[in-house]
Amino acid sequence: MVLVEEENKKMIEALIRQGKLKDRKVAEAMLKTPRVYFVWKGYEDLAYEDQPLPLGDTGQTISAPHMVAIMLEQLEVKKGHTVLEVGTGSGYNAACLSYLVGEEGKVVSIEINRILHEFAKNNLSKLGIRNVELILGNGTLGYPERLEQEIYDRIIVTAAADEIPGYLVTQLRQEGIMVLPLGKGFTQLLTKLKKKDRGIETKEICEVIFVPLRNG
Ligand code: SAH
Repeated sequence: MVLVEEENKKMIEALIRQGKLKDRKVAEAMLKTPRVYFVWKGYEDLAYEDQPLPLGDTGQTISAPHMVAIMLEQLEVKKGHTVLEVGTGSGYNAACLSYLVGEEGKVVSIEINRILHEFAKNNLSKLGIRNVELILGNGTLGYPERLEQEIYDRIIVTAAADEIPGYLVTQLRQEGIMVLPLGKGFTQLLTKLKKKDRGIETKEICEVIFVPLRNG
């Protein structure tokens, strides 16, 4: 365990040196979340390399740590927030979010693949994380599905969307922030969206590579 903490710390320090991780709270969240708990069996030795890793034969991956850092920084999560994540995958990002929202906050994370939903459930329970609700379903419809109410302070999508899913905009609160990779191609643009009373403001952050969001 001590060794794992040391390796995690080294990885985070490297991300800070490289200028990929600037936010102290995000760094803390990643320090408290040992990535080795979230990699697929057999990949433990690579858990603290800054690269995405395959999640069994599901065709999905756990994102690279620098990508998690960039997205979480852009999301500007505060203690007490209610956050929706689309694409639970391994549960790593959800676990980092759990730390950022704190005990008074809540994370809802939706995954469409049953195997990964179960995998994440197991990973989060090993760390005793309680403020994350894991849902099996299609996240493009929001949660609860198709609800037309502004219930989330923040929304993060960890698979690439062709266009901004309408239900997610509907479920985002005024002044809320959504971060998502947007585009149809092999690479997409990580986009930060802010909901204002007169519509939405978007800002492009950087080019990224994500697997496409499934539509059902
Ligand atoms: N955040 C994850 C990595 C996500 S990989 C982590 O920390 O490990 C993207 C995930 O999105 C995959 O697990 C994929 O199955 C899921 N996904 C794709 N389309 C989806 C949809 N419509 N609703 C919910 N999950 C979806």
